[in-house]
Amino acid sequence: MSQPMPAIFFGHGNPMNALADNVYTRVWTQIGRSIPKPKAVLCVSAHWYVPAVGVTAMERPRTIHDFGGFPKELFEFQYPASGSPELAERLIELLDGEVILDTVRWGLDHGTWSVLCHVFPEADIPVVQLSIDETKPSEWHYEFAKQLAPLRDEGVLVIGSGNLVHNLHSYSWGKETPEPFDWALRFEQEARSLMLANDPKPLANYELMGKDALLSAPTPDHFLPLLYVLALQRPGDKVSFPVEGFDGGSISMLSVRVG
Ligand code: ZN
Repeated sequence: MSQPMPAIFFGHGNPMNALADNVYTRVWTQIGRSIPKPKAVLCVSAHWYVPAVGVTAMERPRTIHDFGGFPKELFEFQYPASGSPELAERLIELLDGEVILDTVRWGLDHGTWSVLCHVFPEADIPVVQLSIDETKPSEWHYEFAKQLAPLRDEGVLVIGSGNLVHNLHSYSWGKETPEPFDWALRFEQEARSLMLANDPKPLANYELMGKDALLSAPTPDHFLPLLYVLALQRPGDKVSFPVEGFDGGSISMLSVRVG
C-alpha cells in the first residue's frame, strides 16, 4: 500500500502572503514539492465559520475575497482550481450528522487560496472546503474530524488553515517587526510540546488551558482548523513544524505537519 498522505496545518496570517515571496511562502512551496501529488485537497479554513457543517460541492469554486482594506491586486487575485463534487459526496458519506452540500454559495476563501497559491501554484489539484460549525465546542471538532481519517489513504491532502496564535487586538499594524508577546510565545511553546508528545487532548479543550490560551485564541475560528489536522494523527506519525515565526507580535505562523 502506498504511504498515507500527511495532514498539514498552515498558519496563513496576512492575506497579502498570497502575493508575497517571503520566509513563509517559500516553505509552503517547498512543502507542495516534497509531498506526493494529491488527488484532491480538503481544506478546513478559519474563514468559513458558520452555524452548520457545509461542504463545497461545485465544479468551479469561485475565489472569494473575504476581507477589506487591501490593494486592488489582491481583490483581483484568482485561484482557478476546480472543485470535486466526488470528494464532496465522499465527505457526506464519512461525516455523520447534518452535512449540507453547499453547491453554489461558498467557494474558496482566502484562508484556502492565499496558502494554496504557493503550495500548488499551478492550481491543478481539485479543492473542496469543509466549514467549521461555530455552534459546536472545540472538543466536538476534534472528535468529529477523526471521521476524515480514511481520506489520508485515498490520496486526499487534508489541510487546516488558521493560526495557532491569532489575536488581532494586539497585532502591530505598523511597519516595525515587534517581538512576539510573552503569552503568545508561552502558549505556542506549550502547544508544540503537547503535539510532540502526541498528547493533543488538552489542545482539543484549549479553553481550559488558562490565560495564555485565551489571549492566543480569543475567538475559536483560527485555532480550530489545527484540531482537524491533529485528529488525523496515527500512532507512529511524526509531527514537525516546517514553518515557524510570528507576525505582528500576536500571529503565530507555525505550520504543523502530521505524517
Ligand atoms: Zn485568517
